[in-house]
Amino acid sequence: MYTPSHFLPTSVSVDLGALAQNFAHVRRLAPRSEVLAVVKANAYGHGAVEITRALQRLTVHRFAVATVDEGIALRQAGVQDAIVVMGATVPAQFADLVAHQLTPVLYRADMVRAFADKVPPGAKPYPVHIKIETGMGRLGLSPQEMPGLIGRPDFQTVLRLEGLMTHLADADNHDARHTEAQLARFQQTLEILQQRGLALPLVHAANSAAIVKYPASRYSLVRPGIMLYGYQTLAQEDPTSEVRPILTWKTTIAHLHNIQRGDSVSYNRMFIASRRSRIAVLPVGYADGYNRLLSNRGVVLIGGRRAPVVGRVCMDMTMIDVTDVPGVEIGHEAILIGQQGQERITATDLASWQQTIPYEILCAIGPRVPRQYIPLPPGSTAS
Ligand SMILES: *Cc1c(COP(=O)(O)O)cnc(C)c1O
Repeated sequence: MYTPSHFLPTSVSVDLGALAQNFAHVRRLAPRSEVLAVVKANAYGHGAVEITRALQRLTVHRFAVATVDEGIALRQAGVQDAIVVMGATVPAQFADLVAHQLTPVLYRADMVRAFADKVPPGAKPYPVHIKIETGMGRLGLSPQEMPGLIGRPDFQTVLRLEGLMTHLADADNHDARHTEAQLARFQQTLEILQQRGLALPLVHAANSAAIVKYPASRYSLVRPGIMLYGYQTLAQEDPTSEVRPILTWKTTIAHLHNIQRGDSVSYNRMFIASRRSRIAVLPVGYADGYNRLLSNRGVVLIGGRRAPVVGRVCMDMTMIDVTDVPGVEIGHEAILIGQQGQERITATDLASWQQTIPYEILCAIGPRVPRQYIPLPPGSTAS
């Protein structure tokens, strides 16, 4: 990991102790299931290698990424555990999957044949997961295709069916009907396969929302992503705030100046002062993932108070109105996501200001922002 010794005006810090607590919550909810920890998209912006290493110490030994390159990056960092590539892949990538011992999710019959062709002759059967389409409208074999496919000889010799999965489209909705229909379709498919005498491998369907809300979806493996990072997409009424955000995003005031009533701030003069105002300049912008939709809308924490973003967010700078915050100085900390005193801003807040979901806020924190880690407390590895 990049561990700079110099001063970092803008940085993310990730509390691995809080990760351990969130993971413990997954364990409590699904005590009989194995865990496939979802670390795609740089572990939702938290740093895939560091998060993976911490979870390994917490006894997780299966990791899911979206792309072949994400899997290769983990291998190159020395991760030897199972790595499942859940995203869409094409035959041109199959040789790389095999070369790096990454586990593919196969979701088409022709893909199964093409992948089997890439397994070297004489090698031991290669573990694969098969995805079944039950109502996500995305990737997967139809339930009807399954028996014919899995009964084929390839599966006994070249490939080893390690996992059978589906993905839920609506588990975070308060209306359960679509999820229940998907789970019923999945269950029927499993039963048909069992009736044909096929031993079921790892069976998995549950993302974070389903882990919390649909005990029947937990099967032998669960796939938590967002809840490990301390967020959930369930409606507020769900009593699941037992997870807490593990990421803090902070920056440092780089400049302060006063403007007069009628003066404007930033591109296109979107903000015009209605009074004499004190403006703080933060060295963070949309190139770091602080979205331009936060122009004149976002809020940051300075001096334990909420202070508004004024004017357009720039590529590398953002301006804040600190007129009402006493004692502000250059070098003081500003919190973009996190806590300061009694106040708190979460990725969910940013998401509501820019009309998206916390996932996108976290994933968007750019590679220019260095990540630092608060280590796991001693003893937290015994789960
Ligand atoms: C991203 C992803 C998950 C994790 O979802 P969360 O809502 O973050 O828990 C699980 N399964 C699949 C197939 C995914 O793509």
